[in-house]
Amino acid sequence: MPTTTRPVLRFAPSPNGPLHLGHALSALTGWAMAQRLGGRFLVRIEDIDLERSSEAHIEGIFRDLAWLGVPWEEPVLRQSQHLGRYAAAAARLADLGLLYPCFASRREIAEASAAQGTPHDPDGAPLYPGLRRTMPAEEAAARRRAGEPYVMRLDMGRALVLAAERLGGAPLDFTELGDGDTSRRIPCDPVRWGDVVIQRKDVPTSYHLSVVVDDACQGITHVTRGRDLYPATDIHRLLQVLLGLPAPIYAHHRLIVDEAGRKLAKSARDTSLAELRAAGATVADIRRMIGLA
Ligand code: GLU
Repeated sequence: MPTTTRPVLRFAPSPNGPLHLGHALSALTGWAMAQRLGGRFLVRIEDIDLERSSEAHIEGIFRDLAWLGVPWEEPVLRQSQHLGRYAAAAARLADLGLLYPCFASRREIAEASAAQGTPHDPDGAPLYPGLRRTMPAEEAAARRRAGEPYVMRLDMGRALVLAAERLGGAPLDFTELGDGDTSRRIPCDPVRWGDVVIQRKDVPTSYHLSVVVDDACQGITHVTRGRDLYPATDIHRLLQVLLGLPAPIYAHHRLIVDEAGRKLAKSARDTSLAELRAAGATVADIRRMIGLA
């Protein structure tokens, strides 16, 4: 008898601010899909930003989810407790010759980027202009020994060559689920991100690396998350191919925007779930506010 694997979904907030209406939509959408598919629902705390994450925000996340009526399985994975796992994945990429240290300051990057007409990545950050990608190994080693801070970047050109080899002619793309469970293959264009940071200065990982490693470790089959992360999926697919990890199905949901049409920020206290609750809002009110009623 063939074994069918149970779908696994997750809600993966970063605890650097209170959850707001956008998170409520994410959590409720993920949980609803998990129920519909008869799947499991996990919570992952994406706390690699050690300075901005706080225990108080983590506790707030659990309180808000419980209030919303979204149950989750224990144990909850906290990324800050798995830095070694991400470092090991980065080491695999380095062994493939795909990473290089970058010592450039923000200012150097901005200046070099301006000289090239300041192209931007899909998040609006100046596109890294490939400064000193080929720094001699001895110079890099000496600067590391001297304690100079650096990040590790992905050599996008080489990464694409290796990914194409691994794919053996198949396109780099991902499956996006739409309404009514229609699915589409979306072609990826990771070049628009340039040589992305794989390991930051302060932690041996980055959002892109940890999300890909953890989705695989937790056996996530369906990634439900906001539309703002749609372009990042290009990098996630590329890293999955390079690291030999399975490709989940993606379902990016609409964003909740403020009156000015901007995506809600964690700093927008007036839309935090805790504030709304304290002001007397019920879960039914929240559902109405995010268009789920
Ligand atoms: N931690 C990310 C956030 O709070 C979500 C990451 C993901 O779902 O892939 O925006």
